[in-house]
Amino acid sequence: MFQSFLIKYAEIGIKGKNRYLFEDALLSHIHHALKRLDGQFTVTKESGRIYAHAGAPFDYDEVTEALTCVFGVAAVCPLKRVEDLGFEALKKQVVEYIEETYPDKSFTFKVNTRRVNKQYPGSSEQINRDLGEVILETFPQTKVDVHQPDVLLNVEIRPKGVNLYSRVIPGPGGMPVGTNGRAMLLLSGGIDSPVAGYMIAKRGVKIEAVYFHAPPYTSERAKQKVVDLAREVSRYSGPIKLHVVNFTDIQLAIYDKCPHEELTIIMRRYMMRIAEELAKKDNCQGLITGESIGQVASQTVHSLAVTNEVCALPVFRPVIGFDKQDIVDIALKIGTYETSIEPYEDCCTIFVAKHPVTKPVLEKIRKSERNLEEQIDGMLKEAVETAEVVWC
Ligand code: ATP
Ligand code: MG
Repeated sequence: MFQSFLIKYAEIGIKGKNRYLFEDALLSHIHHALKRLDGQFTVTKESGRIYAHAGAPFDYDEVTEALTCVFGVAAVCPLKRVEDLGFEALKKQVVEYIEETYPDKSFTFKVNTRRVNKQYPGSSEQINRDLGEVILETFPQTKVDVHQPDVLLNVEIRPKGVNLYSRVIPGPGGMPVGTNGRAMLLLSGGIDSPVAGYMIAKRGVKIEAVYFHAPPYTSERAKQKVVDLAREVSRYSGPIKLHVVNFTDIQLAIYDKCPHEELTIIMRRYMMRIAEELAKKDNCQGLITGESIGQVASQTVHSLAVTNEVCALPVFRPVIGFDKQDIVDIALKIGTYETSIEPYEDCCTIFVAKHPVTKPVLEKIRKSERNLEEQIDGMLKEAVETAEVVWC
């Protein structure tokens, strides 16, 4: 019964003269999200609102699901559009709408009329009262509640017809992807980094990703898991260019030449260096990680400071102050959790020391890295040059 959707946006409404850029980006993401589905939707902007109109039958759940993944969408309201055949006809149309939309009629309601067509007879107040009366008469189980109605029935009288809507499906909020620069996500197979990528993309940032794998110590299956995670994040962020970096030689060299309690921290520093190199090549303005203070030895404040030291680009760590459970809750909400807990080995866990340093001293770490001096430049260059690109 719904042929159209009214798509409401919040934050982008306040962006002054940039508003058009934001609206156009949102329009194009909505168009993109619906293009893959049936329904032959046309997406239009009309007096500060976005509508998607179907030209063919579609799957309601599939469409609402797709729309509620688009960042910048505050709410999705399924619409019934009826012809303007006069007020008596409108009463019937409203009754029909209620009949079809709410099988259970024991609810409180309020009618909210907007006369965009100022020629339409009667005041909005009067129309609210008259339509309310008809609903009460037809469905005696209903009640009016003007303060906190269960159902707020919106009646929008437009020049070319009347829009009826009352369902409001919350969207993800945030800003349209691509309106806020580009950043490189360090994506592992864990729970945290997909959530971090989601959170930064939600602020309008276009994301790419880099995964460090260490064959044969890490399997093809572990890599596939990261590809799967990138695909899951891409439902929200749009297509992700995933760089798969072969990290084996560097890890073996570190293992060979550096104190074992410093393995993780040194490895993390090289990951950041390579990520930054790839980021700069692709015009990214920042890096993103899933680090959270104190979660593991390499994420104490001391360790984070030492890891951060190698980067010139800003590093965005959106889950830095979150407890694990907070991160898990988001992973569950966005649908990455199930994949993240698949039991495939990670390169960090294979080369991990029994007692990693928790308070690394920068000077000491630098000194250990000097053991790699002769070989490391060539290895870094090769890692960057041989990175494989997988579009997710
Ligand atoms: P996650 O759940 O995201 O894997 P974690 O709690 O396992 O995080 P670490 O393994 O210490 O934490 O990694 C910290 C961050 O470093 C990750 O969130 C991710 O951004 C990055 N990272 C770690 N391992 C890799 C990897 N193999 N490839 C790409 N990035 C990685
Ligand atoms: Mg991890």
